[in-house]
Amino acid sequence: MLDGLDPEQREVALALSGPVCVLAGAGTGKTRAITHRIAYGVRAGILQPASVLAVTFTNRAAGEMRGRLRQLGAGGVQARTFHSAALRQLQFFWPKAVGGDMPRLLERKIQLVADAAARCRIRLDRNELRDVTGEIEWAKVTQTVPADYPAAVAKSVRDAPRDPAEISQIYALYEQLKRDRSVIDFEDVLLLTVGILQDRHDIAEQIRRQYQHFVVDEYQDVSPLQQRLLDLWLGDRDNLCVVGDASQTIYSFTGATPDHLLNFRNRHPNATVVKLVRDYRSTPQVVHLANGLLSQARGRAAEHRLELISQRDPGPEPAYTEYADEPAEAEGTARRIRDLVAAGVPAGEIAVLYRINAQSEVYEQALADAGVPYQLRGAERFFERQEVREAGIALRGAARAGGNDSLLDDADDLPSQVRAVLSTKGWTSKPPSGSGAVRDRWESLAALVRLAEDFARAKSGATLSDLVAELDERAAAQHAPTVQGVTLASLHAAKGLEWDAVFLVGLTEGMMPITYAKTDEQVEEERRLLYVGVTRARLHLSLSWALSRAPGGRASRRPTRFLKGLRPGSGSLGSLAAAGAGGIERGIAGGRRKPRGPVLCRVCGATLTEAGAMKLMRCEDCPSDMDEALYERLRDWRAEQARELAQPAYCVFTDKTLMAIAERVPTTDGELSSISGVGVRKLDRFGADVLAICAGGDGGTGDDEH
Ligand code: ATP
Ligand code: MG
Repeated sequence: MLDGLDPEQREVALALSGPVCVLAGAGTGKTRAITHRIAYGVRAGILQPASVLAVTFTNRAAGEMRGRLRQLGAGGVQARTFHSAALRQLQFFWPKAVGGDMPRLLERKIQLVADAAARCRIRLDRNELRDVTGEIEWAKVTQTVPADYPAAVAKSVRDAPRDPAEISQIYALYEQLKRDRSVIDFEDVLLLTVGILQDRHDIAEQIRRQYQHFVVDEYQDVSPLQQRLLDLWLGDRDNLCVVGDASQTIYSFTGATPDHLLNFRNRHPNATVVKLVRDYRSTPQVVHLANGLLSQARGRAAEHRLELISQRDPGPEPAYTEYADEPAEAEGTARRIRDLVAAGVPAGEIAVLYRINAQSEVYEQALADAGVPYQLRGAERFFERQEVREAGIALRGAARAGGNDSLLDDADDLPSQVRAVLSTKGWTSKPPSGSGAVRDRWESLAALVRLAEDFARAKSGATLSDLVAELDERAAAQHAPTVQGVTLASLHAAKGLEWDAVFLVGLTEGMMPITYAKTDEQVEEERRLLYVGVTRARLHLSLSWALSRAPGGRASRRPTRFLKGLRPGSGSLGSLAAAGAGGIERGIAGGRRKPRGPVLCRVCGATLTEAGAMKLMRCEDCPSDMDEALYERLRDWRAEQARELAQPAYCVFTDKTLMAIAERVPTTDGELSSISGVGVRKLDRFGADVLAICAGGDGGTGDDEH
C-alpha cells in the first residue's frame, strides 16, 4: 500500500492520528495520498472502516473516492459529500430529535423564490430569479439570516444582483413559504443537522462514537456552514486530515473560502503539515504553463503557491489556436479530437472544457457532425432515466428470485447475468442503428452492463444482489457510470479529474475572465479556474478562442489576458491583439467560409446568436416552413446511409441539419454547402443524393418505389 507513494505522500499515509494538513498543487497526488492513507490504516488494523468518514464536495468526486477505496480493499469506508452525509444523519435522527417524518426535500428552489418575490410584489425575470436564488444560497451557507443580508453583502466583495433590501425581503418570505409548505431545501439539510448537533448532546455523542476519523478532500472549497458541521462532528477530538490547493479555489461565489485550509496550522498548532510538489499527472510542458499562470496570480492563495515539478516524460507543447468564429472553433476542435481518437487516444480520455454550460451546444453539434461519441457531465440524470429505473426493477427482481429465475444460470458470471436480464429490456450486443430515443435507451442499458463488468472486476465473487446494492448506492449519490465518450464539461465540473487530452475552448476576454468578474478578487478566481483547466491534462493540451461569435461577424473578440506572455506571439503587456503570429493557427475551418454578415432569422429577421438557430437559419420558435414530406424522405435516406456505414444517423447529418435542408430545399451544391453542418466532406459524399431527394427523387439508395 505504501509502495505506491513518494516519501511525502507516505508521511501523510502514516500520520494516522492527530490533525494533518496537506497543502499541494494540482496533480501532486493529494487524493491518492488520502485514499492510500485510509486503505493503509484499514489494512493495518489501525482504522475501523466504519469509523472513517471521507468527505468531498461533489457526488462525482465522492463516487470516485469510493471506487478508489474499494480497489484498495477499503470498500467499507464511507465516502460522501457533506450534503449526503448530513442528509443521512438528519433522516436517521429526525424522529428522535424532532419527531414525525422529515419534511420533503425541495429539489429546486426557483419556483418557491418566484412565489416569494411575487408576494413581495417584486417582478423578476428568469435570470434575475436565478441570481436571487444564488444570493439566498450564499446567505445560507455563510450563515447569514435575512435581516443581516444587506450588511453581509456590503461587507463582502459580491455585487448583489438587486437592491439588497429587496433580496432580504424575498429571502425572508422564501423561508416562511418553506415552513408553511413543510419543505426544506438543500442548505437546510446542513443547517438542521448543525442545529441538532448543537442542541442535542446525546445525538452528537452518538455520531461521534460512530465516526472517529475525518478526511476532507478539496478542503479549499469548504463553506463556513460545512466547516461548522465538521467542527461539530469532531467535537473536541482532532483526528482530521484535510488536503487542498488554495490555487484551485473556484467556488468563492458560493461562499467557499480557502481560509480554513490556509489557517489550519493556527487552529491546530500540533498539525502535521505536508507539502507536495511533484506533479505526477502532467508533462513538463503542461506543468510549465500551469506554473506560468500562477506566477501572475495575486492575492492570498497565490502567496502560498508552490512551484510544481513534473515527474513525467516530456510531451507535446500546448497548442494555441485562434479561429475566425465559434462554429469554426467547434469544428476545428472536433476534427482534432477525431484525429486523436484515430491515433489511438480513447474518447473517454478526452475532454472539452468551457466556462459556462451554455457553450456546450455548439460542441455537441460539432462532435455529432464529426461522428465522435460524447457525454455531457450532467451525469446526475442517469439514474432518473426511465429505462434505467426499469432496468433496476428487473435486476432487483432477478436478484430476489435468485436461483429460481429462469433467465439466470447460476454458473454464469455477474456480467452475463446482467446481460441476460437487460436483454429483456432491449439490450442487444450491437447498438441499434440511428440516433434518437431507441439509441439513447440502448446507451443507458449498455452503460449499466459496463458498470456491472467494472464492478465484477473490482469485487470478485460479487453477486447480483451486491450489484443491486451498488446501483442503489450510486443512485442515491447520483453518480453515473462512465461512458466511453468525449467529456463535455464546465471548468467547475472538471475539478479533481484528469484526462489524457484536454481542450480548453472559448478562451476570450468576456468568457475568461467572464464578463461579470469585476473585482480583482473575482478576476483572480477566474485565473484559478483556468489553472484548474490546464492542470486536468496529462499529455495533450489545447487552448483556443474565436475572434467572432458567428461566421462573418466582426472580429471583435480578444484572447484571454491570462495567457499574455505565456502563449507564443502574445508579447508581454498591452499587445493582446497580436495573436496572428508565432505558430498560432488562424481560422482553420474559417478559411473556407465565405465572409457573411450576421446570420438573420429567415422568418422574423432577428439576429441569431444560438448555434441551433443559426443552423436552422431561423429562431427556433419562429414558425417552420419545412417541407414535411421532404424531411421524412431525407430521414429515410439517412437511416439507410447510417445502416450501410454502420454508424449512428447523426454522423450522416444531424436532425437540425436535415431540417434546415428540408426548409431551404437547396437546388445547387452552393446552396447545400451554405447550410451549417454540410462541410466539404459531406458535400462530396452525400451532396448528389441530397440534391436528388430535394428535387423529388429518392436519393438513389432505396430499392423499392415510394
Ligand atoms: P487535484 O489537485 O487535481 O485534485 P491531486 O493532487 O488530488 O490533484 P491525484 O488525482 O491524487 O492528484 O493524482 C494525480 C495523478 O497522479 C493520478 O493519476 C495519480 O494516480 C498519479 N499519482 C499520484 N501520486 C503518484 C505516485 N506517487 N506515483 C505514481 N503516480 C502517482
Ligand atoms: Mg484531487
